[in-house]
Amino acid sequence: MKNWPCKNNKKTIKSGRNSIKFLFGLSLIIILNIPHELFAQEKFTVVLDAGHGGKDPGRPAKNYSEKDIALKIVLLVGEYLKKNKDIDVIYTRSKDVFIELDERGKIANDANANLFVSIHCNAFHTQAYGTETYVLGLHANKQNFEVAKHENSVIFLEDNYEEKYEGFDPNSPESVIGLTLMQEEYLDESLLLASNIQNNFTNKLNRKNRGVKQAGFVVLHQTYMPSVLIETGFITNYEEGKFLNSKNGQEKISRSIADAVEKYKKHLDENLVVDVKPKPVVVEPEPKDKIFKGVVLKVQIASSSKKLDLKPYNFKGLKGIERLKIGSHYKYYFGKTSNYTEIKRMKEEARKAGFKSAFVVAYKNGANISVSKLLNSSE
Ligand SMILES: [Zn+2]
Repeated sequence: MKNWPCKNNKKTIKSGRNSIKFLFGLSLIIILNIPHELFAQEKFTVVLDAGHGGKDPGRPAKNYSEKDIALKIVLLVGEYLKKNKDIDVIYTRSKDVFIELDERGKIANDANANLFVSIHCNAFHTQAYGTETYVLGLHANKQNFEVAKHENSVIFLEDNYEEKYEGFDPNSPESVIGLTLMQEEYLDESLLLASNIQNNFTNKLNRKNRGVKQAGFVVLHQTYMPSVLIETGFITNYEEGKFLNSKNGQEKISRSIADAVEKYKKHLDENLVVDVKPKPVVVEPEPKDKIFKGVVLKVQIASSSKKLDLKPYNFKGLKGIERLKIGSHYKYYFGKTSNYTEIKRMKEEARKAGFKSAFVVAYKNGANISVSKLLNSSE
């Protein structure tokens, strides 16, 4: 009997230790999980879109299939990009299946991707050859329109296309004008990637450069991120068709595209003056309002050389955007408050909307002050 209390005690201590172990384990899981998610969000996501598929074979050519070549190239580009641990790759299709144009954009938008790259092959009734990369814009000439017309005509294979694309008619050059507005915000970035791609094709592969071009591609219109459409060459050209259909050709084209994407990412990394360093994760207690009197807190969401209209559609739906000209650039801010808890919530809102690098800035008497110093000063 004497031993009982003792035994009981031991048991209590043991179970106490177990719950400490359990809590420790649990917090380890939490700590390990949270950074993973944070880092995952910081990863640069590229959506690779193999044109056509399934019942839509793409451009007609005697010996080669656009949908097959596009898919093989896309899968290789993905393989090369995945070797970079900072890049995530998502395919709109990895098999021979039919996917509607608006679904392709939706995949990219849902993934909150950083880039959308659509890959195709060109065709013509002459022996024309060479590569060209498109960004969304007005057709500068009939030739560009013809390319877009062919790539857009797939919507006729889709159900309800009149409704889905709001009366858009691929056969009418005028019908495309309304399409260009949405991508305007990303034009500079899209052009940068497009010229990286064309430069690689020309300088590394010696392909004929037909240039960076603009035209009204429906698939590019559907995305909320920098987007390009690559015509990797003409499958109707005897030599080029053979090259595009060969493993060697596909590898070379794919390497050039992957390299151009990495160059683009590097350029952004070097030119973004935002704080993207992962911060230590602290499991915080329920947030209490932290108010700094006399301090104005805002979320900086973007910086651009372009003066954008302050309409929500230009800012992924965010309302109440403020624009300030600083030097040669315009900076765009979301929110204005002295409440740090509130501005942190708004920062999350902006990040969720797609401004992944949004960060908080603070002003006192009109001068920019350090947020971390401000926070330290309150403790
Ligand atoms: Zn195509």
